[in-house]
Amino acid sequence: MALPAKFSERVLRDLGEAEGAALCAALDTEPPVSVRLNPAKGGVAAEPGAAQGQSGPDAPAALAVLRNADGRVPWCGEGYYLAARPQFTLDSDFHAGAYYVQEAASQFVGYLLGGVETAGKRILDLCAAPGGKTTLYASLAGPDGLVVANEIDRRRAQVLADNVRKWGTGNIAVTACEPRLLGDFEAWFDVVAVDAPCSGEGMFRKDMQARGEWSENNVKVCAARQDAILREAWRALKPGGKLLYSTCTFNRDEDEGALERMLAWAGAELAEAEDITVDRAWGIACGRVGVFRTYRFYPHRARGEGFFAAVARKAFDAGGRSRTPRARRTVFAAVDKASAAELRRWVRSPGRMCFAAVGDTCYGYYAAQAEAVKTLAEALPVIYAGVAMGQVFKGRLRPDPALAFFCGLEREAVPVAELGGDEALRYLRKQEVPAEAFAEGMNLVCARGHALGFAKRIGNRVNNMYPNSLRIIKQ
Ligand code: SAM
Repeated sequence: MALPAKFSERVLRDLGEAEGAALCAALDTEPPVSVRLNPAKGGVAAEPGAAQGQSGPDAPAALAVLRNADGRVPWCGEGYYLAARPQFTLDSDFHAGAYYVQEAASQFVGYLLGGVETAGKRILDLCAAPGGKTTLYASLAGPDGLVVANEIDRRRAQVLADNVRKWGTGNIAVTACEPRLLGDFEAWFDVVAVDAPCSGEGMFRKDMQARGEWSENNVKVCAARQDAILREAWRALKPGGKLLYSTCTFNRDEDEGALERMLAWAGAELAEAEDITVDRAWGIACGRVGVFRTYRFYPHRARGEGFFAAVARKAFDAGGRSRTPRARRTVFAAVDKASAAELRRWVRSPGRMCFAAVGDTCYGYYAAQAEAVKTLAEALPVIYAGVAMGQVFKGRLRPDPALAFFCGLEREAVPVAELGGDEALRYLRKQEVPAEAFAEGMNLVCARGHALGFAKRIGNRVNNMYPNSLRIIKQ
């Protein structure tokens, strides 16, 4: 499908003949493929050897996908380009949450936030599905931090929740509501990220549908929606907190235009964020719109898709007290002492966690943010938070599939059944798996050391407990 004529005309007009033509030509080339490793699942410690095709005791057989690596994403410590697109669906590490398939330019948001400052912070990702940036923020926030990942579209919110379970950091709460309801958590977040729904011009190379759906009218609709979302984001941000705005479009009205309109209404409450070093060789076009620092990725200049990101702070003296909406319901019930003891047995840092029951399922939360999660859940539709641990029945935990993905799982709590490649795929397809690899009773099922789920052996039979909803269907 050809590029929309009005888009090409505008690009040639705005960027000039040579630059505009180079951009349009780049949109007709093959997009790069990139992944971001999950640092909590051993990716980073082991990856350099594997990336260069070396082997050795630390080379992550666990990350077979890196045999195909074609350099690092320069602005993301865990980011790698791949020489070709593998069949991710047939890679058990993909299902284990050992990496996330994320477009390279998008990984820049982590660089903008900077790891040190983000640890232990409360981050709102207001437009979050399917979760590429959420999982990146969760790795930066660490166990003492909290990422609230919101998605307005219920169906997409379920996909987000699946990706959150697999990432396994245990420090994310997924909400599914209008941004307005999160704006009511006034001055509550240290960082608010708006990865706004947009006209998607930056996706014209990867996604032909984006070309088909583009129209000048849609650009206007998107711009108005972005303004509305930014107003809610602003309410939720603490004084001194960081606002991160991004889109995957080149459109000025939705990028610099959105920032200019915001500068007009937020005025002196907006302040500069600290400068970051951007290597010229990365090909990112850096700019300013008032106090905002802006970063634009053009596919003919930087190795990634079209992307725009901007950052500013709420002034420290912006005023406004932190306020949360009134509790509407009670969600968490206490777990009894015996159940809590059983739950503690299943986690590596029991002293840092607390437990509560939601319905008949027990959840674990890092203590540092447990009160914050409770406040959210009592006011908003939280569809997943912390880690679902399972049900305690007669003093024994029947583990939830999400617990297998949890990075803080205590592996000593349950026998581990390590499966080979073909058997792991059989497990992920929810087919029968041979009983020999399993101990009698409950087992944690792993492939290349990465946990995939649970299975229970009873005699010669293995009950495959992999969730139907995640099952691989592709042959
Ligand atoms: N941040 C995501 C990631 O990195 O995986 C991608 C987010 S995508 C660019 C924008 C999201 O905004 C979509 O999931 C879309 O459903 C959601 N959205 C659409 N309309 C919205 C609205 N009015 N308010 C908030 N979010 C909206």
